[in-house]
Amino acid sequence: DQISIGVDVGGTKIATGVLRGDELQDRHVQPTPETGWEAVLDAIAAQIRDLQAKHPDARLIGVGIPGPLNSDRTRVKFAPNIYGFTDVPMVDGLLERLSQRIVLENDAKAAALGEAYLGAARKTESSIYVTVSTGIGAGIVLNGRIWRGRHGVAGELGHITVMPGGPVSGAGLDGALEAVASGTAIARDASYALNRDVSTAEAFALAQQGHPGVRRVVAQAMKHIGVALADLQKVIDPEVFVIGGGVASVGDYFFHGVQAAADEYAQGFAPVTIRRAQLGPDAGVIGAALAARHG
Ligand code: BGC
Repeated sequence: DQISIGVDVGGTKIATGVLRGDELQDRHVQPTPETGWEAVLDAIAAQIRDLQAKHPDARLIGVGIPGPLNSDRTRVKFAPNIYGFTDVPMVDGLLERLSQRIVLENDAKAAALGEAYLGAARKTESSIYVTVSTGIGAGIVLNGRIWRGRHGVAGELGHITVMPGGPVSGAGLDGALEAVASGTAIARDASYALNRDVSTAEAFALAQQGHPGVRRVVAQAMKHIGVALADLQKVIDPEVFVIGGGVASVGDYFFHGVQAAADEYAQGFAPVTIRRAQLGPDAGVIGAALAARHG
C-alpha cells in the first residue's frame, strides 16, 4: 500500500486528506485565509502537521494549486482566483515550514490524474479532465501521464480567448473562456439579468424553471464550454473528456447543454465523449495525493 497526503487549495477552501492505497481518510476542509500567500502556506503546513501526527507513515505530500506553475514546479506563477497569489515560492516556503519537500501540482492536472487512475477515465489511453468552477482548468492525460507542454501551461483552458473584447478575466485577458463560462461568470451575468445577486446554483435553478434571461446566460456558458471541447477534440482528439467542478455538479441540465454544443461543433470530425467526474469534491485531494506518488 502506498500512503500519501493530498492538499487541494481553492479560492475559498483548502481540503486535505490521507490517501491510503486508494482510500481517502481524514478528509478535512477549512477556509482559505484571505490575508496573503504566507498565511495560506501557514494554514497548509499546520494541516499537514495534524495529519502526520495521526498518520506518521504518510511522508509523501502533494499540493494542488488553482493556477499555472513554473516549469520545474517549485513556484506558482499566479492563481487568478486567489487574491494576492502571484509568484509564490510554494515548495521552498513549505520546506521552511515543514522540513519536508512537497510535490506541487496544478489543481486541474491533479484531478485529471485522480480521474484517470481511480475515476471516470480509468482504462483510457487519453483523457482530458475539465473543471468548471470559480475558474476553468484542464488536465491532459496521455498514456497515464500528464502532458505539461514546454512551459508547463498545457491545459490552461480557462484562458483561451473565445470572445475577443469580452469580459476581462482574473489573468487580465479579455474574452477568456473562464470570463464568460465559469461559475463566477454565470453568477455575474445572471445577477445582471435579474437586477439582484444570485449564486451559480440559483442561476441554474432559474434557468431550468425557464426564466428567459437567465436561461440565455446559462445556455451561452454551456455553449462556450461545449465548443471548447469540440475544439480540443479536433486538436488533441482524446478518448474521453471528464468534467468536474462545482458547476458540473449541477448535473443533467449542464451535461446535456454542453454535450449538445460539443456535438454541434464537432460534427463531421469525431464524436465528443463526455463523462461525469466520479471523484466529486474529493478529486483535488485524491489527485494531489497521487501526484505526490508520481513525483
Ligand atoms: C487557472 C488554472 C486552474 C483553473 C481551475 C484557472 O483560472 O488558471 O490553473 O486549473 O482556474 O481552478
